[in-house]
Amino acid sequence: MRKKTFFSYLVLVLAFIGLTGCKTNNVADLDILETSKSSNEIIWGVKNDTRLFGLMDIPSREVKGFDIDIAKAITEKLLGRDGRATFVEVTSKTRIPLLKNGNIDAIIATMTITEERKEQVDFSEVYFDAGQSLLVEKGSPITSVEDLDETTTALVVKGSTSAVNIREASPNARILELENYAEAFTALQAGQGDAMTTDNAILLGMASENSNYELVGGTFTEEPYGIAINKGQENFLDAVNAALREMHEDGTYDEIFDKWFPDDDSGKVD
Ligand code: GLU
Repeated sequence: MRKKTFFSYLVLVLAFIGLTGCKTNNVADLDILETSKSSNEIIWGVKNDTRLFGLMDIPSREVKGFDIDIAKAITEKLLGRDGRATFVEVTSKTRIPLLKNGNIDAIIATMTITEERKEQVDFSEVYFDAGQSLLVEKGSPITSVEDLDETTTALVVKGSTSAVNIREASPNARILELENYAEAFTALQAGQGDAMTTDNAILLGMASENSNYELVGGTFTEEPYGIAINKGQENFLDAVNAALREMHEDGTYDEIFDKWFPDDDSGKVD
């Protein structure tokens, strides 16, 4: 008798694991707009180490930046004032796998819209315009990508467009790939590379806190940022785009933009 009860429990437990497993594995079967409405939450993949876009503020344990405020505003438009925007840390390398696995509902993390990425994910309308540049120690002989040759090392982050673009722009330069932007900047400060390269807006965030470093050579690529959403989530994608449009019309976008970039309009999208 006891044995029978034990087996009945086992069958139930296994069935439960099987069912919940199916639910989370099959991201494609869920309507993310519907599930976020019923849970009253949108889970956003964001940077935690990128000043001005997504940076963890240690005292408050809150992540802050332009991407964060845009995500909060979209969440409010979609779910109302009580809707929760939950933030999960991603890096350039982990963001697409985390989205595809269903760990996050959307990526808003300094992510350039590219044709290659469009094969894996869908993108919202552009919400920020960046361009790739170089960050060097003040007084460095490097003043543009042309100065990066076989005697110099450029620091990049794995999984970024910057890592790909620099190989084209400076084919002879040595490249050192780091896991994230905090590590890349630490490597630059430690002299492990001669220049760090990524989007101008990200580098500006670093230079603003470290007066020994400066951007040089202007921009040499176009990096339009979009919000990435899993394929097959047209309802959610349309709702996000509608929220962005509304934010442009009612002044929310400008307000958030001016809060983070009061002196530089170059990234602003009309
Ligand atoms: N915007 C570029 C990219 O999407 C560089 C910034 C980043 O690594 O997130 O790859």
